[in-house]
Amino acid sequence: MQTLPLGTEPTVVSRPTLDADRTMVGLNRAEIGDRLRQIGIPEKQIKMRTTQVWHWIYYRGVKSFDEMLNVSKDVRQKLAENFTIGRPEIIENLASKDGTRKWLMKFPDGNEVETVFIPDKAKDRGTLCVSSQVGCTLTCKFCHTGTQRLVRNLTTAEIVMQFLVARDHLGEWPTPSEGRVLSSVVMMGMGEPLYNFDNVRDALKIIMDDQGIALSRRRITLSTSGVVPEMERCGVEIGVNLAISLHAVTNEVRDEIMPINKKYPLEELLAACRDYPGAKGSRRITFEYIMLKDINDSDEDARNLVRLLRKYDIHAKVNLIPFNPWPGSNYQRSEDRQIKRFSEYVFDAGISAPIRSPRGEDILAACGQLKSESEKMRKSEMLKQEALKQQAEDGISS
Ligand code: SF4
Repeated sequence: MQTLPLGTEPTVVSRPTLDADRTMVGLNRAEIGDRLRQIGIPEKQIKMRTTQVWHWIYYRGVKSFDEMLNVSKDVRQKLAENFTIGRPEIIENLASKDGTRKWLMKFPDGNEVETVFIPDKAKDRGTLCVSSQVGCTLTCKFCHTGTQRLVRNLTTAEIVMQFLVARDHLGEWPTPSEGRVLSSVVMMGMGEPLYNFDNVRDALKIIMDDQGIALSRRRITLSTSGVVPEMERCGVEIGVNLAISLHAVTNEVRDEIMPINKKYPLEELLAACRDYPGAKGSRRITFEYIMLKDINDSDEDARNLVRLLRKYDIHAKVNLIPFNPWPGSNYQRSEDRQIKRFSEYVFDAGISAPIRSPRGEDILAACGQLKSESEKMRKSEMLKQEALKQQAEDGISS
């Protein structure tokens, strides 16, 4: 495992080698086969070569065709001349005191996204929080990403790449048969994954493929703010666990803090949760609930939450998240006492409601925060440079 000094010092750890048009990462097997045909690989070898390439990219995690040792030298050379499997530039690589890791990566068009690894308490496994968009069109009031404009959807390659980068840094190649450190994934980073459905679906299919990364669908959770029309499709076409950013139990409050609620109000959202494919079996739906002082944390809110989950007969788990304030946010974290009280009420009603401990606060782990801070730092650095240049010019001309 790569050792990094703990703390918040940004380090440049890799140079860009990702070429968006030529990367083979993010392609499905049929697409890899097409690329191989394009470079003249004989038809009778396509299936075998596709299997080899897939194995080296997703099982062994190699970053160059040179490392594909069971592929003949001339094929490796042709692959290297036409395609890449390198990673994006990592412009920040941070390690928190509590073991949380955060990477800010930059794609060739200059756009940046962040990916966070959150270890569990024993630190022998953990969850990777993956982004689906650069910025977000939704403007949830408590979310830092909501203050950034949407730039674009991430491609399938860029979503898969976040996983590969995390595995590189956690030293987890080849894919372990058991005892994985990166043991689960949540699509809960920047962006609304259901607004980038096709790319998210294709990326998750690659991550689940049993000849490569082979992460079980039971270990993957897609979190939505409540894009009701896409929820069923998510269950049918991807089949992963669902999490809902609920955060309020009345339309009045939810309209205010999550404007998407005006489009898809609570009743429609909860009905779609009840009907989510697989929700009637052992699969529970997770409801994320950020605890905002005097906004959504009263005893009455707790009662309403239980009432709603019972009314819609949803097999649910509630994650209570103490708000992680960021510069410029208008909310405060609920009192610990009230969070505990809220949690106990929901637990007593027979619904699991653990309190998530805040993680990685020393490395700006609130979603979207690192990207903004890093942009701000670069902007102020640029302004400083301009001021120095101006001073120098003034000095020369006076
Ligand atoms: S909580 Fe999610 S959907 Fe809402 S603004 Fe933030 S990133 Fe977008």
